[in-house]
Amino acid sequence: MNAPNKSGWKPEMAATSEDGLHNGPATTTGNRALMLEEPLLFEIGHADETGVDLPEPAADAANRLGGFDRDTSIGLKGLHEPEAVRHYTRLSRQNYGIDLGLFPLGSCTMKHNPRLNEKVARMPGFADLHPMAPQSTAQGALQVIHELGEWLKTLTGMPGVAMSPKAGAHGELCGILAIRAALEARGDARKVVLCPESAHGTNPATAAFAGYEVEDIPATDEGRVDFEALKARLGPDIAAVMITNPNTCGLFERDFKKIADAVHEAGGFVYCDGANFNAIVGRVRPGDLGVDAMHINLHKTFSTPHGGGGPGSGPVVFSDALAPFAPLPFVKQEDDGTYYLVEEESREHRGPSFGRMTAFHGQMGMFTRALTYMLSHGADGLKQVSEDAVLNANYVLRSLEDLLHAPYADSGPCMHEALFGDAGFENGLSTLDLAKGLIDEGYHPMTVYFPLVVHGAMLVEPTETESKAALDQFITAFRSVAERAKAGDEGLKQAPYYAPRRRLDETLAARKPVLAWTEPDRD
Ligand SMILES: *Cc1c(COP(=O)(O)O)cnc(C)c1O
Repeated sequence: MNAPNKSGWKPEMAATSEDGLHNGPATTTGNRALMLEEPLLFEIGHADETGVDLPEPAADAANRLGGFDRDTSIGLKGLHEPEAVRHYTRLSRQNYGIDLGLFPLGSCTMKHNPRLNEKVARMPGFADLHPMAPQSTAQGALQVIHELGEWLKTLTGMPGVAMSPKAGAHGELCGILAIRAALEARGDARKVVLCPESAHGTNPATAAFAGYEVEDIPATDEGRVDFEALKARLGPDIAAVMITNPNTCGLFERDFKKIADAVHEAGGFVYCDGANFNAIVGRVRPGDLGVDAMHINLHKTFSTPHGGGGPGSGPVVFSDALAPFAPLPFVKQEDDGTYYLVEEESREHRGPSFGRMTAFHGQMGMFTRALTYMLSHGADGLKQVSEDAVLNANYVLRSLEDLLHAPYADSGPCMHEALFGDAGFENGLSTLDLAKGLIDEGYHPMTVYFPLVVHGAMLVEPTETESKAALDQFITAFRSVAERAKAGDEGLKQAPYYAPRRRLDETLAARKPVLAWTEPDRD
């Protein structure tokens, strides 16, 4: 009989398959040792139960509703406290996070979030502050914003900074709006933004959102921007180029300065996508390379948490040419040391700012975490972060290049991430199969099918916080699954075998998400 029991568990939910691949019989609960099946809250609770004992309302209490009191049940499922706590605890155990194991996602830089950062961010003076609190009562918070901005200016060698953008893509928009404002201020109606083929999708999206036409810049065989092709396309219609450095093939753009000089000579601006700044922080100052605007993902480079829709923070640094157009608000310091916010064009500020990115001042929680990270590492520590990140990525690249197609392995050392392709996989096995096989080995998969310039791309970024032992274990697991893909092991097509769910229809889930729960027929 298939009637749902109280837990809402149905046999078809079980990860166990009939083919015996689990090396054990199906369990009656669907649980597998400590891996527990977890239905939806709605399936656990009951509308006629409640977690609290409240007295029935007095007979005349309803009268205060003027006859509008409900006469039907609201239908919400009641749970008592242990049921609710267990539900969320069980779900949290099914979640893979950076505190559980290595997170090899390339391009996303999932870093360890030191506990010290969390401690500081939770200090009531920061955590409980209201964005409209009088500035005289928020001096410490304003100082954090100001000092963090100063660190970013020093690290990048750029004179202006906007702290309010709330993520990398938001920062890109901020930078491109400043470029547009600067062009408009000189009456220049340039219409085209150039992006390399390997650009993160947010780059062309940003340019298009700001009203520009986007054109591709080709890459050379070694995975870097084709300087000659770029130069040939420059002219009076090019508003800006947007280049990620280090780029998404994991390589440093060696011609960046030459590119920037050529773009400037043609009257355009240089936007650098700085999401990969963790590979060069403390070693390269983008301002020296001719960058006009660059966003910095605090939630990648400076260890503030992200993922799962968590908050990001994408401050933007500006060159002299763009700094006057930066958005409001910004923090300034009086001669007597007090801090204040320039909130609007006013007596103190009559600059040509393009406007605002956000209602308030930015992501305070991310600011406190990022500044804590910087202060606890110091300038020398931040330099070591980039060195160790690059060392770790090269270790992964050189440990796998004999087995996996590594298209740019001959283009010099990689930066913070190692890129592989699926050439040589047998029996129609794909990058997706390898990624699913890694789940069985206990690892979150790397970034797959990005960048698009490499067939079956696998982008692996280990971050500086991983030890050699942790990397060796990961490489051993990766090699074993890659060997199966190259040997054409058909079993890999059905991986993962040991996850709570097997292969999901990810396209259907993205295109037609089921966002409402309906009571199943209980007959
Ligand atoms: C992550 C990333 C972005 C976008 O940053 P978000 O904070 O996710 O908006 C842009 N470019 C590159 C190269 C990135 O890695």
